[in-house]
Amino acid sequence: MRVQTLGDGTPDLAVVACLHGNERCGKTAIERVLAEKPAFSRPVRFVLANEAAIAEGVRFIDEDLNRAFPGDPEGDTHESRLAAELLPEIRDCGVLDLHSTRSHPEAFALLSRINDRTKRLARATGVARVVDISYVAGGLIDHVDGVAVECGLRGTERAERNAERVLRNFLGETGAVDALSESGDPELYRIFDAVEGADYEFVGENFVRVEEGEVFARKRGTGDTGSPGNELRADRPFYPVLMSTDGYDEMVGFRAERVGTLER
Ligand SMILES: [Zn+2]
Repeated sequence: MRVQTLGDGTPDLAVVACLHGNERCGKTAIERVLAEKPAFSRPVRFVLANEAAIAEGVRFIDEDLNRAFPGDPEGDTHESRLAAELLPEIRDCGVLDLHSTRSHPEAFALLSRINDRTKRLARATGVARVVDISYVAGGLIDHVDGVAVECGLRGTERAERNAERVLRNFLGETGAVDALSESGDPELYRIFDAVEGADYEFVGENFVRVEEGEVFARKRGTGDTGSPGNELRADRPFYPVLMSTDGYDEMVGFRAERVGTLER
């Protein structure tokens, strides 16, 4: 883990990259922004989390770090010990946690704790969509006031550019750095269900409403026979979130409802 604090005083803002070692866009964004040596009018702590996993180009060494919090200094896994080391560094900070995904090319934010502080953090990212992911237990943003951002498709330049834009906007909006930024009123979605199952091809589009009766996933390798047992059909309308063909081993992704905007 690499921890770097810029600006004077005790930081109450933190930026975390690479909780997952194969999601490098946050690392790239931080490197690009800090290479310009911006003046910090508010201190910010930058954390590059799982360096061992980055070095091996893998999501994790022993277990998912983003499911290992609060961790244990004497834990059996690399990630358990790392989680215990990481959390005290950022516990009281408002956290921006940068990720990438297999599901969607545009950046969107995830909130688990919903309060005025986390809503401000989410608006500061400048993204158009925020997802209440509190249905899904675990994750760093269950343990701190923070916003996670899925910056785009893993390994793409677009995800790197999105991460950079989100980071610059966040630093500008929070007053950490003097930069052009904007704060919107993003649309709010709330996850209410996980869609389990292995080897499905997701045939919908994330954040595009699936109507009742519509097929949104098909078992792979079954051709177009349309056998009902090989299709997943919506029993009620929903918005797919984090759904993909190969993002998860045992899950297609999540079903969400659209709540309104973050303000209303
Ligand atoms: Zn991730």
